Amino acid sequence: MANRKIRVATTSLAGCFGCHMSFLDIDERMLQLAKVVEFDRSPITDIEHCTNCDIGLIEGGVCNSENVHVLREFRKNCKILVAVGACAINGGLPALRNFIPLEECLQEAYLDGIGVENPQIPNDPELPLLLDKVRPVHEVVKIDYFLPGCPPSADVFWKFLTDLLEGREPSLSYELVHYD
Ligand code: SF4
Repeated sequence: MANRKIRVATTSLAGCFGCHMSFLDIDERMLQLAKVVEFDRSPITDIEHCTNCDIGLIEGGVCNSENVHVLREFRKNCKILVAVGACAINGGLPALRNFIPLEECLQEAYLDGIGVENPQIPNDPELPLLLDKVRPVHEVVKIDYFLPGCPPSADVFWKFLTDLLEGREPSLSYELVHYD
C-alpha cells in the first residue's frame, strides 16, 4: 500500500445512509483501512467541504439543488469519483417519484397526507429546492466507477477499495456483484 495516506471523502445525497452502514460493516477491517486512508469530508467526520481527495464515494441520487452543489464539489476535488449503490447509479427507489408530478408529491406529503397537521408546503429560502425528477449522479457529473447493490456489501467495498489502494484496476467477482 502507498506511503502517503490516501484521502477519501464520502457523502450521502438522496440516499438512506444504508450504503455508509454497509461500508462500516467491514468491521475490524476498518482498522486496517485507517492505516492507509484518512477521511476527508464524510458523515463520519466533522469536515464540511472536501479538498484534494484521491477518492470520493457518492451514495444516493440527486433530488435537490444542494445535492447538485455537493456532487459538483466532489467532482472538482476528487481524482476518482465512485457512484455507490443503486440510488447513485440509477436513482434507486427514490426515483419512483419520477412517475408522479412533483406538485402532487408535495401536495400529498404536506397538505393531504394522512396525519398531516398544520398543512403547508415548506418554503423557507434556506431549504434546497427539489428537482423535478430524481437523477442518477452520472447525469450531473462524470463518474469513474459504479459499485452496484442496495447496498453494496461490505465485502464489495473492501475488494473495491483494496484494489484501488494497491494500485490495481478494481475487479469484482460475479458473486460479489448484485443489484438488490
Ligand atoms: S442504494 Fe440502497 S442502501 Fe444505498 S442509499 Fe440507496 S436505498 Fe440506501
